[in-house]
Amino acid sequence: MDAILKLSKINYAYHSYKGETKALSDISFSVSSGEFTAIVGPSGCGKSTLLSLIAGLLKPEKGEITLCGKTLDESTVNVGYMLQHDHLFEWRSVYRNILLGLEIQHKVNAQTRKKADALLEQYGLKNFRNAKPSDLSGGMRQRAALIRTLILEPELLLLDEPFSALDYQTRLSVSDDIGQIIRSSGKTALLVTHDLSEAVSLADRIIILSRRPATIVKILPVTFALEKDTPMERRNAPEFKNYFNIIWKELKTYE
Ligand code: ADP
Repeated sequence: MDAILKLSKINYAYHSYKGETKALSDISFSVSSGEFTAIVGPSGCGKSTLLSLIAGLLKPEKGEITLCGKTLDESTVNVGYMLQHDHLFEWRSVYRNILLGLEIQHKVNAQTRKKADALLEQYGLKNFRNAKPSDLSGGMRQRAALIRTLILEPELLLLDEPFSALDYQTRLSVSDDIGQIIRSSGKTALLVTHDLSEAVSLADRIIILSRRPATIVKILPVTFALEKDTPMERRNAPEFKNYFNIIWKELKTYE
């Protein structure tokens, strides 16, 4: 498989009047097209910083990031970013929230409107098309936020703790649900999470980071011998505990 994303020797530090905060040190990895990669590490180690660099919101101090072989400035790869908070606007209906990105890109037309309706139907929000975000449950709001991202047809999806604002039970079903949507749509995804179970249930590969400044401790391929490889099936499979324990042990050394 071709690498859609490649990071080579990335270093990043924040600078303020208080001094320098080194966040990332010598980070190199690639992500293949269609792959679901999770990034885990101790709190404050630099996970969000890493996604911000890939999204082009921050510039690396050293090293290079390429998308399909081109630097971020030259790349035409469409990158979608989904954050912890859904950032749905209460003064817009669900439908108009979903169209927001398209409006900004001047791409609202009969075809994209039809697609918005199809996605609403596909992801169970058809009856909430004209509702306000506050009428939706936490899980439904995250689905709406995902549709708003997917409608822009991102080739690479960056997910920064997208489920962590939800209560435990909702989180479990929404992460499984959204994980399946992303998988079935064949998107390449990079998920930052502090929830090890979430990482094991969703990812093809898990990148374990050290304490700040983050370096890569281990890249763990995740495979399950399952007929139906869904997050819920994974959670009940015998391999699940082994993967969880491997990551747990690695992270335990940083406590
Ligand atoms: P994580 O996502 O792993 O919790 P972050 O990437 O958010 O970690 O942050 C990594 C480190 O950089 C933390 O110590 C954090 O306090 C620091 N940091 C994050 N943003 C800034 C900023 N804008 N200015 C200074 N330090 C920051």
